Order: sequence, then C-alpha cells, then structure tokens
Amino acid sequence: MTSLDDLPIRDDLRGLTPYGAPQLEVPVRLNVNENAYRVPEAVALDIVQEIARALPDANRYPDREFDALRRAFADYLGHGLEPAQIWAGNGSNEVLQHVLQAFGGPGRSLLSFTPTYSMYPLLAQGVGMRWIAEPRPADFTLTPDAVRAAIQAHDPDVVFLCSPNNPTGTAIGLETIEAAAESARGIVLVDEAYAEFAHDRSRTALALLDRFPRLLVSRTMSKAFAFAGIRVGYLAAHPSVVDALRLVRLPYHLSAITQAAALAALRHSDEMLARVDALREQRDRLVDELSAQGYSPYPSDANFVLVGGVADPQAAFRALLDRGILVRDVGLPGTLRITAGTPAETSAVLAAMAALDAE
Ligand SMILES: *Cc1c(COP(=O)(O)O)cnc(C)c1O
Repeated sequence: MTSLDDLPIRDDLRGLTPYGAPQLEVPVRLNVNENAYRVPEAVALDIVQEIARALPDANRYPDREFDALRRAFADYLGHGLEPAQIWAGNGSNEVLQHVLQAFGGPGRSLLSFTPTYSMYPLLAQGVGMRWIAEPRPADFTLTPDAVRAAIQAHDPDVVFLCSPNNPTGTAIGLETIEAAAESARGIVLVDEAYAEFAHDRSRTALALLDRFPRLLVSRTMSKAFAFAGIRVGYLAAHPSVVDALRLVRLPYHLSAITQAAALAALRHSDEMLARVDALREQRDRLVDELSAQGYSPYPSDANFVLVGGVADPQAAFRALLDRGILVRDVGLPGTLRITAGTPAETSAVLAAMAALDAE
C-alpha cells in the first residue's frame, strides 16, 4: 500500500496537514464564518437567468478579462476605482495565491501578525516562501509603531494585514495601514474579507490606494454576499499590480458561470447588505450577552466573535456539538470563535453557552 509518505512529494510539504474545518451536518453551523442567510429566492432566480443567458456560448472560452464583472466590482467598491484596478479569482484565497505567486516565491518572505488567518502560512508554503509570524499583543490590536518596527526588523517582501482580523475580529486603523505602506519595501495587502461587517463601513484601506501603488486590498463575496459556495474573491490595486497578476493566473480561470453568477448577485448588493446589517446586530448581541454571562468576548468588526474566558474550550466545543451547535476552537487558550447567525441560531448558542457552567 502506497501512503503519502512513500510518494516523492516535495520535502517542504512532508508532514504538513491540509486546511480543513469540520463540515458536519448539524442544525446550527457557526464555525466557518459563513453568511447565516441563504441566497434570497429573487436573487437566486436572477442569477439562474444570467447563467442561462451565458450557457449557450459555453462552447467558447469565457471572457479572459471578465470585463463586465470588473466594471461591476469597481462600481460596487466606489472610491473612484476603475475596472483596470480590479482583479478577481475563485475565492479571495485564489487571489491571495496569485499575489504570492507574482510577488513572493522561493527566497522571499511573507510577514503577518498572529493570531491571524490560518491560510496565510499555507499559501506561503505552497509557493515556497518563508513565513514570518509577528505576535500581536494580548488585546490583538496593532499600532503604527508596532507594525513599522516589525517591518523594519524583518524586511519582508510581502505583508498581509487582515482587517477585520480572523480569528480575533480586530479592525486595523487606517493610520496603521499607512505606516505599513510607508515603511514596507515590497507589497502590502489588506485582507478585507469582512469589511462589510465593520461598525464603520467607510473605514476601508480602499481610501489609501491612490497614495500607495504597492498597496492591495482584497475582498470576497463569500461572507457579505452569502456566496461561499460559488467561489468569488477580488482585489483592488494599481493597474500595474493587476498586470503582474495576469502573469500567474491560469488561462480563463474565471468560468462563464462564475462570472454570470457574480454579476447578477452584485445587482442585489442593497438587499445583501441589509442582511449584513441583521448579522451585525447578532454579532453585537453575542458580545453583549456573553459579557453579561461572564465571558470575555473581544470587540469584533467581523461576523464572528472570539470569546475569551472559556475554561475548557475543547470540552465546551463538545458540549455545544452535543446540542447540535458547531463553533470553532481556533487553538487560542481559553477561547472559542462563534459566527453570528440568525436571531434563532444566536439564541441557541447563547443558551448553550449559559448552560456550560452548570454542566
Ligand atoms: C473567509 C476568509 C476569506 C475568504 O476566502 P474565500 O476564498 O474568498 O472564500 C479570506 N480571508 C479571510 C481572513 C477569511 O476569513
């Protein structure tokens, strides 16, 4: 029997485990920060019609430049962005991979501030880059001085700043992003996967793009647009950055179906953002009610809350699962990460958390 260990796999991949949060069929799934709401019926119908229009031409390769979709993303983001400044991929993870393929690679380094998104070291590994993890302070916030000092100490080729940060929910101030862009020699990417959930949606690094040609801002439709299953992420940057990303993408990487689906969904951004508002309310409710229960939730600008003060996270995870509720143990001592759900789902997890002490 051949096992993975017997294969002539790259030396640097030996012993690694793939990314994988559990995918369990339980009633309340609050573990991977998905949008709790299904795609609305009217939006789904519009998407199906757009796909139906595209389908007869599926004998041809899709528009390699996805021009219509880039125009739609530029309009959605605002800030005077032009389609030439937009890039997209099959999820923002693919966009991040394109960035590292173009600007990273063997002999180069990626710096980020941990705890942060667990895919960053894996993406760096995949392109043979060195991963540099600079620890955050106890409250997970980042200051201009701390970021500038880390960049000066490590001289990285690429810096990833996740804001709001997964798994802590911490937003990064624009003055800190400016400090990074001013002090870094290479690329600075702000991962704004959760930007729409921020308390102040206008506080985005998109506002800084004009001043910093090596600053990149990535977004995703997975969270705010309830589109995790379709796989659409995108990025805004200087047009020459987009030219660099064209060098590493696979030919026709965005299928005609993906382009049609995203285009149709973007027409419904007002409706989708109204649901984001509902989720923001449940996020704030999680923070308020878990505090009242005696836990220590961290402030969050995302659609999830990192909850501190959990005596035994592994036992709590199992106790919640016994009640049909899936949350995430991200491996930070004394914490669990809980995604904001519908009002009913949030009530369920709050009741289960309240019962933990008693059990
Ligand atoms: C969920 C998430 C993404 C989005 O990934 P997709 O590939 O677009 O689904 C990106 N960055 C962070 C930090 C995330 O948590």
